[in-house]
Amino acid sequence: MQGTSAITQELVLVGGGHSHSLVLRMWGMNPLPRVRLTLISDGFDTPYSGMLPGHVAGIYSRSECYIDLHPLAQFAGAQFYVDQVVGIDLERRQVLCRDRPPVRFDVLSLDIGSTPKVSAAVAPELTERAIAAKPIGRFLERWQRLQKAVTEASSPQDIAIIGGGVGGVELALAMEHRLQGRAKFHLIHRQQNLLPSHNFWVRRHLRRLLEEREVQLHLGEAAIAHVPNVIKCQSGAALPCDWSIWVTEAGATPWIQQCGLATDGRGFLAVNDKLQSRSHPFVFAAGDVATLTHAPHPKAGVFAVRHGKPLFHNLRAYLQEKPLQIYRPQQRYLSLIGSGDGRAIASRGPLWAWGKWVWRWKDWLDRKFMTQFQDLSPMPSSMADPAAHSKTNGDAPQVPPMFCAGCGSKVGRQTLTRALARLECDRPGAQGNRHSNGSPIPLLESPDDAAIWQPPGDRPLVQTIDYFRSPIADPYRFGQIAANHCLSDLFATGATPHSVLALATIPYGSSKVQEETLYQLLRGIDKILSPLGTALIGGHTTEGPELALGLSCNGLLDQPSPLTKGGLQPGDRLILTKPLGTGTLLAAHGRNRARGQWLEAAIAMMLQSNHVAGAIAQSFNPHACTDITGFGLLGHLIEMVEASSKSLTITLKQSQIPALPGSLACLEQGITSSLQDRNAQLQNQVSPWRSPLSPQQALLVDPQTSGGLLIAAPEQDTMMLLKQLHQAGYKDAAVIGTVSDSSNSQASAPDRPILLKS
Ligand SMILES: Cc1cc2nc3c(=O)[nH]c(=O)nc-3n(C[C@H](O)[C@H](O)[C@H](O)COP(=O)(O)OP(=O)(O)OC[C@H]3O[C@@H](n4cnc5c(N)ncnc54)[C@H](O)[C@@H]3O)c2cc1C
Repeated sequence: MQGTSAITQELVLVGGGHSHSLVLRMWGMNPLPRVRLTLISDGFDTPYSGMLPGHVAGIYSRSECYIDLHPLAQFAGAQFYVDQVVGIDLERRQVLCRDRPPVRFDVLSLDIGSTPKVSAAVAPELTERAIAAKPIGRFLERWQRLQKAVTEASSPQDIAIIGGGVGGVELALAMEHRLQGRAKFHLIHRQQNLLPSHNFWVRRHLRRLLEEREVQLHLGEAAIAHVPNVIKCQSGAALPCDWSIWVTEAGATPWIQQCGLATDGRGFLAVNDKLQSRSHPFVFAAGDVATLTHAPHPKAGVFAVRHGKPLFHNLRAYLQEKPLQIYRPQQRYLSLIGSGDGRAIASRGPLWAWGKWVWRWKDWLDRKFMTQFQDLSPMPSSMADPAAHSKTNGDAPQVPPMFCAGCGSKVGRQTLTRALARLECDRPGAQGNRHSNGSPIPLLESPDDAAIWQPPGDRPLVQTIDYFRSPIADPYRFGQIAANHCLSDLFATGATPHSVLALATIPYGSSKVQEETLYQLLRGIDKILSPLGTALIGGHTTEGPELALGLSCNGLLDQPSPLTKGGLQPGDRLILTKPLGTGTLLAAHGRNRARGQWLEAAIAMMLQSNHVAGAIAQSFNPHACTDITGFGLLGHLIEMVEASSKSLTITLKQSQIPALPGSLACLEQGITSSLQDRNAQLQNQVSPWRSPLSPQQALLVDPQTSGGLLIAAPEQDTMMLLKQLHQAGYKDAAVIGTVSDSSNSQASAPDRPILLKS
């Protein structure tokens, strides 16, 4: 028996905005045991609005003004699902996502921001040129395209900024500074006064700045249409316009109202003075999406930041059934408005100041804010709230539960049954025959002690098994990665998957929490198996400290003999279908040192199945094939050489070997997987091979999860095979080496079959 803490409640954060970023940071420093935290956001990073105009002006790089959510979630010990939320089922307490199964919660918090409405009719051919300032990520992508187009245009382009609040004015000044002289700017504002919420002096000063920079002001005008080359206004005025930027009044996403949450008159979620939904107390909200109906304040990043602390406090208090804290927004607050040229204006009530020193002050504050998301060293356990570890609900100390080993560690029967039933319900045509997708049909009508199947025909049966701990905090994507990884051996041999048995370890938790994990995991497996017509025929689910999954896969050979590792022929070219580097990147992620964009690229690679690559390879009758997994490229290549009957030399071109983004940077820092050292014992096999390894050499022994196929094909087929792989989406597939007869080779010692060339 083992003592450990079981998860009993699920807190789900939707949107990685300013408030939730702070909640994650604070949660990492002071977590609540027995509560599983999950973040769902539609991007792996999120912009800090205070530095956005500075980024547009060219002062900050993208990475300086984005909060990387992967390391932050890792620091908080949170699961992180990258997906867009499209609704909430309040009755079932489920978050509905665009590309993944519903996510269950006990307590929910929303921080998804707002979107300015493009409130004019836009000619269809101009939709790419009518740019909303939010979501900021999409705005910045379009801003890059706008800059390129303006730079390449033969004459200055007209850019209309619609909205004369702080955002519009600051953006106009930043863009003007960046494009200096290459564009003509127009600022269109419905009212006569710019920045109506600021004092006279601030308004006058900013107006002067805009005029000095030759931004044409169109005050008291409302834009109603963007047609080719023109913005039409309600007054009948027609202003020249190639691009329009919309920084108008913030709007709310429609699904908030549609799902039944109480809203204000504009569709934003109505919250009380505890940031708690007025209609559903188990739902909290912060930032732009929330309206404090008792004390409304502007939709601004400064408030989204201020919401962070009370939100964190109240989420914890609600989960612990303790009294919630009242949040009172400040009536007056400091605005620091940059003018894009290294100067800024400070504005607070009747007070104001202007100059370079204000910019330096703003820059210091903004960088300080961002530092807290960059310095995410793991917390010493003594710094976490010791009280939190001995309490769950209320103040009563709880004795940690004990968990059995042996067969007592199985996940409860009802938990398993419910998760499987949900999986069955979600299948297309769920009410009909579950085997209608072409998957094999069992011989038994109902589940029994073992699965019994009649293999079709007399095709040889191919069997393989793999099992590993989850390297990412997302059971749905882990289910897909593990299924791809385990099936890969079948694709390498040219077998068609027939059925699989699953062995899953589900972290300790209440039956509801375990059901949710198992359901997400099974949906991930199903996403890979379903299109292949492969059946999950049984398995075993046990409890443990960490999520892990393995599949025992059965396949059938379509041809009389399998494609094997052996069979390399002199003159063959070696094609690798996917880039290397998952071992070091996952190790870096484990130490919270992988950038979000690196990790996402690695996950995307692991989610790509080898199924199609295997089929393409088969159609060329290659001489040999294997999949690259734990032993790394060199380990598997040596297996290929050893399995081939001839005496061979492999010449690898290191510069041609595709690497995942960030993998070489991680290896450069000495971050390696625990298996790496054992894989690197190759001094008798590889020439030259000296310690310490260069990052390029370390990549060759990096253990891969769901790695690519290594195909040996005759030279004349290589280019066509490669072309088909690229067309099928294996964009990094590359010819990485050649096979030659070692008896003719001058370059390699006979006992070192692998020769590295730069
Ligand atoms: C050009 C411009 C300049 C600005 N400058 C300033 C400034 O200097 N100071 C200031 O105080 N305010 C400024 N603002 C306002 C500021 O940007 C917003 O008030 C602030 O971003 C709101 O923060 P938030 O946390 O509510 O949401 P956001 O910062 O918008 O974060 C929302 C997060 O949720 C995610 N998300 C959104 N929808 C979904 C979904 N359906 N599913 C999953 N995830 C989702 C997003 O990807 C994002 O990560 C500016 C706004 C603009 C447009």
